[in-house]
Amino acid sequence: LGLRLEVVNPQDEIGRLAITFNDTLERLEDAFRRVKQFTGDVSHELRTPLTILRGETEVGLRWAREPEEFRELFRSNLEEINRMSKIIEALLELSRAEEGGLKLERVPIELEDLLGELVQQSRLIDPEKGLKIAFSAVTPVTVTGDWLRLRQVFMNLLDNAVTYTPAGGEVSVVLDASGGFARVTVIDSGVGIPADDLPHIFERFYRVDKARNRADGGCGLGLSLVRTITEAHGGKIDVVSEVGKGSVFTVYLPLQGTV
Ligand code: ADP
Repeated sequence: LGLRLEVVNPQDEIGRLAITFNDTLERLEDAFRRVKQFTGDVSHELRTPLTILRGETEVGLRWAREPEEFRELFRSNLEEINRMSKIIEALLELSRAEEGGLKLERVPIELEDLLGELVQQSRLIDPEKGLKIAFSAVTPVTVTGDWLRLRQVFMNLLDNAVTYTPAGGEVSVVLDASGGFARVTVIDSGVGIPADDLPHIFERFYRVDKARNRADGGCGLGLSLVRTITEAHGGKIDVVSEVGKGSVFTVYLPLQGTV
């Protein structure tokens, strides 16, 4: 908008009003900018899979003859459709959370069970990369939370740790409790995150390496969801990272009975 009121005397009533008015304008402009940026990001993220879908379908319709070729077309189309669904689901979840409408189905959760299962799954999914995935826990550490959503939090962190750690590396998950909070630490010996990027990684669609991550299937929404869900549970998340050494993500959740 570029519009501002001139402040003649910051001390008098008119001056103070003008200052408040200018501040409000600035905040409004900021909000507009963010909405614009966000809309642009969403369009961009959805356009890419759509372009691929259209291209492949056109080529397939023109050239495919054998059932096997059509099958391949469907399989690859499904992949892009799934990618779009994932983006839309994540966005819906994020906007619900922003409106305060994220309904948590709270039940008591033994974090050792939930984490143990996820660690076991990661070991099964990625045997050829030869990562060592360790898990250690003190018990019992019980929180009150939404099982599916907390599972999503730790699955995202573990997925990232595995994705961003090269073959032969190590990932470990440590569960303990301190100061009324359950503490889950996900440590990897992977590529790490540059200091300049670190403050932004929880923003929607933020990726450190845009080109590489598309191939890996990441859409840059995982960590936004992780933070949103964690905060909806009254918790918080921290990250420490060093390029070439690895990253440490720590999630704190209020222990049962302390909420
Ligand atoms: P993505 O779907 O791209 O993984 P996320 O929101 O989960 O999106 O993560 C945002 C970005 O933060 C990633 O694209 C990656 O660049 C960086 N990142 C997240 N976790 C790690 C990690 N454990 N090691 C290195 N980089 C990471």
